[in-house]
Amino acid sequence: MLLTPGPTPVPEFVRKAMSDVTIHHRTPEFEQIFKETRELLLEILDMPEAVMLASSGTGAMEACVTNLTFSKALTINSGKFGERFGKICEAHKIDFTEIKNEWNTPVCVEAVVEAVKNDSSIDALCIQICESAGGLRHPVEEIAAKVKAINPEIMIIADGITAVGVEKIDTTNIDALVTGSQKALMLPPGLAMIGLSNKAVAKIESKKVGYYFNLGTEIKKQRTNTTAWTAATTLTIGLREILAHIKNEIGFDNLYAKTALRAKATREALVAIGCEIYPQTPADAMTTIYSENAPAVRKILKTKYNVNIAGGQDHIKSLIFRINHMGLVEDFEAAWAVNAVELVYDELGLRAYDGTANRIFNETMFKGNK
Ligand SMILES: *Cc1c(COP(=O)(O)O)cnc(C)c1O
Repeated sequence: MLLTPGPTPVPEFVRKAMSDVTIHHRTPEFEQIFKETRELLLEILDMPEAVMLASSGTGAMEACVTNLTFSKALTINSGKFGERFGKICEAHKIDFTEIKNEWNTPVCVEAVVEAVKNDSSIDALCIQICESAGGLRHPVEEIAAKVKAINPEIMIIADGITAVGVEKIDTTNIDALVTGSQKALMLPPGLAMIGLSNKAVAKIESKKVGYYFNLGTEIKKQRTNTTAWTAATTLTIGLREILAHIKNEIGFDNLYAKTALRAKATREALVAIGCEIYPQTPADAMTTIYSENAPAVRKILKTKYNVNIAGGQDHIKSLIFRINHMGLVEDFEAAWAVNAVELVYDELGLRAYDGTANRIFNETMFKGNK
């Protein structure tokens, strides 16, 4: 049972759709597929423009930074992925300033407001919606609204790689919304997507930068249902399949509600057996538990109970474990996962097993408690 917060399992109907013969990307057949995919993508992103890139998510982060920062970026670092925005700036010699916090701590709204007020050269804000390193949710919408009130020209670049497909994101003040194929969209890695505001499109068109990651070139091509370079045809077919499935068989809002409830049920079940939630503001994409026993917990979960979850990175590598909620996770899978954690805690002598985790999960998930 793969319950890591990316990559997530690729559903069988998506694998089947992608198993057909490879078609040429410069054909009316593929243009039709691209058109349908693009329409679905614009809908889930809830943005006026979007591009798909044959790259992993980091490529889309880089494209947003280089195409939308002309003067100076403010980057929010509460984990590995926020840190990456700064590294991208460094690599491109783009001036930036960073607000750094411990990985369990969301950025303070006032700190962002102060930074923007005190430095008029800042023209882009780079932030994760869910910082996957610790599973925390930044108050992106509130920050975006406040920053726009100070200076509407500042581009809000939001990394939604573990937020798009998890929850409804208010894109009112967001200029670039980044996502990738292998997290909530349950596809193999290799496709990145960016939703863009009209202001972002205008800025991109005002000064074209880069070659492969030249968003101006891509926007122009993709508006005519083709791509600047060879399209990731198979992944595009997969994306159309998963988005159409979510829209027509589940409903976007139903998926978000279901994911939020399953995340809540998981958190409550684990807290009830003494687990400590790591982030101060947990995102619904994953549940992150702080535990000195994390490596042992993961090992027994995998070998004895067939539950494959993730650990941490860097300084909290062996201090957290993360359980995925993104994508089409079955309720019985999540119920089994919390039950297995309780069995492992018993085996490690941390707490005697009495079925509490499963009971609390079921009460929250199915009996509408609290
Ligand atoms: C996974 C992830 C990325 C990086 O994506 P790659 O596809 O590995 O390049 C970026 N941001 C967040 C928040 C992620 O979870």
